[in-house]
Amino acid sequence: MEPSFFPIYVGKSKNVYKHPYDEKLLIMEFKDDVTAGDGAIRTIAPHKGIINARTSHFFFKLLEGKGLKTHMVEFNGNNKMIVKRLKMIPIEFIARNYAYGSLLKRLPLFKLMQPLDPPLIEFHYKDDSLHDPLITHDDIILSGLLTKGQLGKIVSITADINMILRTFLEEKGLKLVDIKLEYGFDENGEIILADEITGDGFRVVDERENHLDKEIFRKTKDVKLLIESYMKLASILGIDLSDIK
Ligand code: ADP
Repeated sequence: MEPSFFPIYVGKSKNVYKHPYDEKLLIMEFKDDVTAGDGAIRTIAPHKGIINARTSHFFFKLLEGKGLKTHMVEFNGNNKMIVKRLKMIPIEFIARNYAYGSLLKRLPLFKLMQPLDPPLIEFHYKDDSLHDPLITHDDIILSGLLTKGQLGKIVSITADINMILRTFLEEKGLKLVDIKLEYGFDENGEIILADEITGDGFRVVDERENHLDKEIFRKTKDVKLLIESYMKLASILGIDLSDIK
């Protein structure tokens, strides 16, 4: 499926295209672009797009096998995925199993990699110009972003997804430090997991606490190390990347 037209949305790591025949679908193209610091640092990591598309497909399939609804419709192994067109909720839902990153900056009472039990669920309003600020449960309801019922449902789905992925990764000797999830509503008002599940949006470490995620790039700005760590995670998960040189 080659989108032969301009994207309707150009994001930091993906481009979004209309589907040529079905207005209920979109084509999501995973790019090789890598950004850090709210997009202040931007470069190209060769093959990142295809690796992330396959990684996302892998995790969406895993979650669908457990009965969760995702936006994924069709994926042929390249860097494009056909997805359901959703009305996106402009909130990032973050589940944290260990203290890391912005949590430590916000509240230095936590120690690096301190286990969080129960996992902490945070809400961030998606707005680059505001640097995706942390918002509260009541902010979301009073501002009309979601109803109390919708928010409760998404929190519960987020906790379930986090637990499924965390348990799955633990069986592979990996720790899921934290994960960012996005959701949208379909035409029936149903809440569907959207966007992507990749090293761009989660932190995963091995037994020696080596990062198999974008943290490598945030720390070193080295795209080669980034791709090596994404490929290592893919290989542990059994994702075939043998066609990528
Ligand atoms: P950003 O907007 O942060 O730069 P991306 O580069 O990942 O992010 O761009 C992808 C965009 O597509 C995001 O804004 C995301 O919210 C949106 N999106 C993800 N899944 C869907 C979907 N199923 N329907 C509509 N929009 C989606």
